[in-house]
Formats: sequence, C-alpha cells, structure tokens
Amino acid sequence: MKIRIEKAACVGNARCAAIAPGLYPLDDDGYIASEGFDVPTGEEALAQRGARACPERIISIVEEDG
Ligand code: SF4
Repeated sequence: MKIRIEKAACVGNARCAAIAPGLYPLDDDGYIASEGFDVPTGEEALAQRGARACPERIISIVEEDG
C-alpha cells in the first residue's frame, strides 16, 4: 500500500500529522513535507486514518495490484 500526497495543495492545518506524526511529517512552516511513501507493514490503518483526516482530500491511498 502506498500513500500519494498532492503536496502543493496542502493548507497546513496538520490534521494528518495529529493522527500519525511518524507517517505525515510537516515542514518548518507546518505544511506536509512528503509527496508520498510506502506504508510500513502494520501501519495501514494508521495511514488510512491520517488520509481521511485531511479536509482537503489531497492524501490518497494507492492499493497495489497483485
Ligand atoms: S491534513 Fe491535508 S491539508 Fe492538512 S497538513 Fe495534512 S496534508 Fe496538509
């Protein structure tokens, strides 16, 4: 499972980081510092919760085929 983030559209309200600070790091200005990542095994639910917490809907979950 992967996460994709439309970094340029982030408004910096830190909802994602409040849920999962280890997965959704913020830069010094409080905006998301990542454009996406491979979700570590066992952290899928946390990653999903963080994605759902984004009111801008710029965090998407990419399920891999096969
Ligand atoms: S929740 Fe969405 S808009 Fe808010 S900091 Fe995270 S990525 Fe940016």
